[in-house]
Amino acid sequence: MTAQKIDGKAIAAALRGRIGAAVQDLQNRHRKMPGLAVVLVGEDAASQVYVKNKGVATKEAGMTSLEFRLPADTPEEVLLGKLRELNADPAVNGILVQFPVPAQISQQVVIDTIDAAKDVDGLNPANAGRLVSGLDALTPCTPLGSVILAKETLGDLTGKHAVVIGRSNLVGKPVAQLLLRENCTVTTAHSRTSDLPAVCRQADILVAAVGIPEMVKADWVKPGACVIDVGINRIDAPEKGRGKTRLVGDVAYDDAAEVAAHITPVPGGVGPMTIACLLRNTLTAFCRQNGFEEPEV
Ligand code: NDP
Repeated sequence: MTAQKIDGKAIAAALRGRIGAAVQDLQNRHRKMPGLAVVLVGEDAASQVYVKNKGVATKEAGMTSLEFRLPADTPEEVLLGKLRELNADPAVNGILVQFPVPAQISQQVVIDTIDAAKDVDGLNPANAGRLVSGLDALTPCTPLGSVILAKETLGDLTGKHAVVIGRSNLVGKPVAQLLLRENCTVTTAHSRTSDLPAVCRQADILVAAVGIPEMVKADWVKPGACVIDVGINRIDAPEKGRGKTRLVGDVAYDDAAEVAAHITPVPGGVGPMTIACLLRNTLTAFCRQNGFEEPEV
């Protein structure tokens, strides 16, 4: 079998298009548009690219994009002051602090300070708790994007056995919760799981969110499974020339694609869904804050 490649780029572009149309419709009816504030502390090169891409995508969707760049030596209290200001600003519906933050700032304190209603990263414990409780929640973007890809590919996920490798607050745990909400039978695996390959072989849906390049081998994959590879790992690529690198996922793609029925590539799979879901969360936050009906996107 050669698996069908799940085209995250196309699915994300379609989602962004639907979000843009919904924003336009809300603007026409209410003369208001969603606003997303992104805060970057320091000059980390990768973070600067992420923030720039988020700003471009936000504007393309017809939303207001606000960017705040603070120096690397910004004291924690100054950042928290900025976040309190944004919490109180009615034109700001979503707030995202680009992680990682410099060492003098606690990531958890930042997460706790952002108003849960504006927490478009879905990391605030109030949102994590609401997700577990089956209540409306803002949900972390990469997990949301991963589950959308599985649903777009398989349709109804009811009764499927999903194995999630990874239990971080950012990816593994929320993916597992979202799959549970879709009526999957969910197994969460991690670094202490016994006989991980055997656990993975039970999966109708296998989600890898580990951070180890190409760890999941072909014989870990159940024939016909749907494989969602969240991992983004940069490895040396001497075949491309001296000092060159390339991106790979947590799954050995070529080999696993011989066994799976559906598989996400890296890049071009889960990655593009993350920004699309950030826009979706901003739209959701905007509607809930204003008491508007949430459009189906
Ligand atoms: P973390 O490092 O926070 O978590 C990794 C998880 O993998 C942990 O739960 C850990 O288990 C588990 N793990 C580590 N080693 C093994 C092993 N040998 N066997 C089984 N499980 C193991 O990473 P994140 O969750 O933040 O990210 C995971 C991956 O997803 C990374 O590659 C990251 O780059 C990528 N990512 C991609 C995004 C995207 O937009 N596509 C966004 C966010 C992340 P334990 O808890 O026991 O230590």
